[in-house]
Amino acid sequence: MKNIYDTVIVGSGSAGSILANRLSNDSNRNILLIEAGNDYSNEESIPENIYYGHGNLDLPASYDSDPHNWSYRGESTDGGPEIRIPRGKVIGGSSSINAQILLRGVRDDYDRWAEFGNEEWTFEKVLPYFKKFEKDLDFSDDYHGQDGYIKVKRVPENEWDDVHRAFYNSCIDYGFPSCPDHNKPDSTGVGPLAFNQIDGVRQSTSLTYLADVRHRPNLNIKSNTYVSKILFDGIKAIGLELKSKSEQFEIYAEQIILCAGAIESPKILLNSGVGDPDKFINHGIKPVIDLPGVGKNLRDHPMAYIAWEPKSDYQNPTTNYSRVAMSLRYTSKDSNFKNDMIVYMNSSTKNNGNPEVPNGIKANLTLNLEESSGEIFLNDQDPTDYPRLFYNYLDTENDVNRFIEGINILEEIGNHNEFQKYVGDMIHPNIDIRKDDKLLKKWLHGKMVTGHHSSGTCKMGNDPLAVVDQTGSVIGAENLKVVDASIMPDCIRANTNATVMLIAERIIDLWE
Ligand SMILES: Cc1cc2nc3c(=O)[nH]c(=O)nc-3n(C[C@H](O)[C@H](O)[C@H](O)COP(=O)(O)OP(=O)(O)OC[C@H]3O[C@@H](n4cnc5c(N)ncnc54)[C@H](O)[C@@H]3O)c2cc1C
Repeated sequence: MKNIYDTVIVGSGSAGSILANRLSNDSNRNILLIEAGNDYSNEESIPENIYYGHGNLDLPASYDSDPHNWSYRGESTDGGPEIRIPRGKVIGGSSSINAQILLRGVRDDYDRWAEFGNEEWTFEKVLPYFKKFEKDLDFSDDYHGQDGYIKVKRVPENEWDDVHRAFYNSCIDYGFPSCPDHNKPDSTGVGPLAFNQIDGVRQSTSLTYLADVRHRPNLNIKSNTYVSKILFDGIKAIGLELKSKSEQFEIYAEQIILCAGAIESPKILLNSGVGDPDKFINHGIKPVIDLPGVGKNLRDHPMAYIAWEPKSDYQNPTTNYSRVAMSLRYTSKDSNFKNDMIVYMNSSTKNNGNPEVPNGIKANLTLNLEESSGEIFLNDQDPTDYPRLFYNYLDTENDVNRFIEGINILEEIGNHNEFQKYVGDMIHPNIDIRKDDKLLKKWLHGKMVTGHHSSGTCKMGNDPLAVVDQTGSVIGAENLKVVDASIMPDCIRANTNATVMLIAERIIDLWE
């Protein structure tokens, strides 16, 4: 048995590529970065839909049949339909196929993380790391970074498309405040979202953090290689079992860091005997560390497409900007949680071949802080195959009611004169469904889709379901860490990519 590598990072996504950059800065440390998907080592070889992320792509990489998408399936609600769960399977991970909205959580999100036993993660302590990874091209002040790898920009007001402008004005007349910068702490209301996309080019962690350090001789990248389990000596992680083409290998390392994302990191742990034994013992997997939280606390942002009939002369925008560049964040009635709702105004009538997306001009109505949570289970037949993802959306009355309130708000906004220049009736859900409470609840249960923000399945903290401590170390294990969306104690009230990048940048400082 020989340790060839000091550190092996499993997964080159939003977190993994940042760790590869920062850890390989120490030339004495030999790093291996393993990725299940393809690598594209130079810009010329990158497929168009991985390099670009703009609004004119007909077949985005998040498309179900794209080879760079794991294309999981999930159960939306209890007894509800199967839904598509895209995740990036390519260098850069989900940052290479995502929609590039760059939004920070609200102050309270991180302060709550601290309350869950992670005092190093208060808003005050994480703010410098949001600034560290970004280069904001619009705002330069105490809250925005200027020197980071990830360039950030919003659509300038004079270039907003018609539907976005109409939505903005309708929201203002409804009484929501204007929000020129959703990343300003304590902001709320309607305004343009920030994007980590410049001139149509996505600022993935692969095109930024990783591209900058590929030349380092101490950074090795192994793509098309699948990690099936961790090898242990007692409670000490000593290596990994890998599959590449049809061959199986074992490698050994001083330190193993799982950055495989909120679905695969818990799956790898369970396949290695880390978790609740009831979840894997029937597969003949030997228990190593009893951690009941592995795969539990599956958090996300459930979303419903609310659509209007477009006016017959409506033309889809043709700019390279995102079709969801305008958003409203608001606090639902009686909620103690600020900005617990978000609406992404979608000015495209297309559905890009995705049957979950209705035709029409759409508002993507989203629960930004759900009460319900789901769970990940190993596949019954083959534990190494795609896991069972039970999202369990709308498990509480309050989650359902917040959607109903949101539909009512959108109905009113949709009736605004300016909005009515572009849309006719709300067709999804239609009036017959909307006027019948029972039908509307049933409709909601059948129409929930993912907001793409799976997280929380290896949560950080010190409660009985915690899987890692606040430095990402797996509780009860040695030489094993998890650093990705799975360690969020709770999903933040924002799209998750910015917070995953923050986690990677912050956690490295906690190791020093
Ligand atoms: C379609 C889509 C749209 C999204 N839009 C946005 C958005 O606009 N804004 C935003 O903030 N967030 C968005 N997100 C979410 C955000 O991109 C993710 O939360 C974030 O990228 C997760 O980072 P991660 O490091 O946890 O995992 P990932 O970036 O998913 O990285 C995990 C990596 O590990 C690899 N891997 C997994 N298992 C194994 C294994 N067994 N062996 C080897 N390698 C493995 C994967 O192939 C992948 O490259 C979106 C996500 C999707 C899928």
